[in-house]
Amino acid sequence: MNSEDISKVKELLSVPQKIVIIPHKNPDGDAIGSTLGLWHYLKNNGQDATIISPNDSPKFLKWMPGSDDILNFEVENSQAKRAIDEATLIFTLDFNHLGRVGQMQSFLEEASATFIMIDHHQEPSDYALVTYSDVTMSSTCEMVYNFIDYLGDTDKITSEIANCLYTGIMTDTGSFKFSSTTSKTHKIVAELIDKGAENTGIHNVVYDTNSPSRLHLLGCALKNMVILEEFNTAYITLSQDELDTYKYQKGDTEGFVNYGLTLDGIRFAVIFIENKEEGIIKISFRSEGDFSVNEFARAYFHGGGHNNAAGGKSDLPLEETAAYFVNLLPKHLKELTR
Ligand code: 5GP
Ligand code: MN
Repeated sequence: MNSEDISKVKELLSVPQKIVIIPHKNPDGDAIGSTLGLWHYLKNNGQDATIISPNDSPKFLKWMPGSDDILNFEVENSQAKRAIDEATLIFTLDFNHLGRVGQMQSFLEEASATFIMIDHHQEPSDYALVTYSDVTMSSTCEMVYNFIDYLGDTDKITSEIANCLYTGIMTDTGSFKFSSTTSKTHKIVAELIDKGAENTGIHNVVYDTNSPSRLHLLGCALKNMVILEEFNTAYITLSQDELDTYKYQKGDTEGFVNYGLTLDGIRFAVIFIENKEEGIIKISFRSEGDFSVNEFARAYFHGGGHNNAAGGKSDLPLEETAAYFVNLLPKHLKELTR
């Protein structure tokens, strides 16, 4: 954030505001961690703040302090709409354009509040008075730490805030291994542990609370994996029937896509997940090195994200989506094999 933006934020927060904080639809650890971290900070500073999530968050994030106070737009609809209407300041966190909030989009477009965006995705839209966008950042949680630092308030980081921010940095960096992880990330993480983030406990509650059916679903996904050595690519499909067989719960497929990249030589990994209710195939893309899955997802699958992690969707049936995908690979042979 430049000094002009810091001054604007300081001025906005120097008076009581009615604040709404919004993560993206299907929120992940970074989206929930950053909104809750910011929420605790603003409330501790006497602000009236409410988090509204476009839909529910996965069970492995519900332990986070303040999680029970998050309004779910799909369930507490009228209360959420009223909060957006009455808001004087709206923070949007961990997404780059309003299309990422699903049904909430039109309400945000009509809101009279001032917007502040904090996000690390490519090509941010221009709807906010203050846009704190930095695509080199590991996570929005790292940016919320910096945001609090810019306001001169790191001494106000409580153990609740530290636990929330640690979680999002951990999940968005694949436990501190992705190339977005810098020495600054580690310094911030060290600070958060000093301020009370329970690092081992957080790893356990996020990664070691599998249900047997989730592991069986993972087994099914791994069996379905197709390896295309010629293109250094591996992809997984999961049909709605398979999800039903293994009693799919929200969040169960989180991380499955990464298994493709653990194969020696594989640089591009994809998972196609059928969602009968929404009538779409939800897709996650991951890469190692300089093949940009953000560009790939934007070009062919109405999506986007980061260079090495992106998402998108398809309206074709599952098998046709996979066939369409496989047919795209020859066009990218050079980038995938260099
Ligand atoms: P995931 O595959 O874990 O759902 O998402 C990977 C990254 O891509 C995340 O940063 C996420 O915000 C972004 N992403 C996922 N799905 C979409 C999408 O449909 N559109 C856009 N623009 N970004 C997405
Ligand atoms: Mn993120």
